[in-house]
Amino acid sequence: MFGIDTDSITHRHLIDPMIQCLRCKAFVWIQESLKSTRNHRDGPQFSFCCSKGQIVLPDLRPIPRLLELVSGDTDESVHFRSKIRQYNSSLSFTSMGADVDRALANSSGGVYTFRVGGEVTHHMGSLLPLKDQPAKFGQIYILDPIEQAIRRNEIFDQQLDEHLLLELQQILEVVNPFCRRYKSIRQREYGKRISSLKIILKDRQSEEQRQQRQRQQQRHQRQRRQ
Ligand SMILES: [Zn+2]
Repeated sequence: MFGIDTDSITHRHLIDPMIQCLRCKAFVWIQESLKSTRNHRDGPQFSFCCSKGQIVLPDLRPIPRLLELVSGDTDESVHFRSKIRQYNSSLSFTSMGADVDRALANSSGGVYTFRVGGEVTHHMGSLLPLKDQPAKFGQIYILDPIEQAIRRNEIFDQQLDEHLLLELQQILEVVNPFCRRYKSIRQREYGKRISSLKIILKDRQSEEQRQQRQRQQQRHQRQRRQ
């Protein structure tokens, strides 16, 4: 190990192997389970991943192009992985709002720790940027696709590949319903003077999601009986 006198380490912290939440199959640590359920005969229950099985998300469709970028060994894949957080942030719709413990986050000693007090929120500004302000977060999705890629790259000091950004934007337009919504606004309203426009997010469970949830509950009941 570089720069660390291993003889001076007196305390080691061992992390248990991860287990899977029986409901949603997320990888979790037992310490993250609800304390009262840890020794339960049906297995521990977890709140933070799926709220004890109450939240059922539709299965993700495999996206071969993303798998290639995440696991390939081409120069493009290596570049993508080296900037994966920037690509992810560049495509986010909202910014995170939280009361972050800055002293701990900026501390130079020990393991990097990100501590948040209270509630974590997502900030979403107006649909269009304010006068003379560049587009940020969701506002970028209203722009023409090439302008979007240019603006995202500008935010990250030209460290990203604009062709790759264009491809990622196109993938999102196929798989992400919010992205499609922004696209339809762009196609209808681009270049026009928009005076009033609202996006309302509604939680509506589709028939497919309802059936999937039922199947998951039946699977869970079968597992319990075994
Ligand atoms: Zn879960």
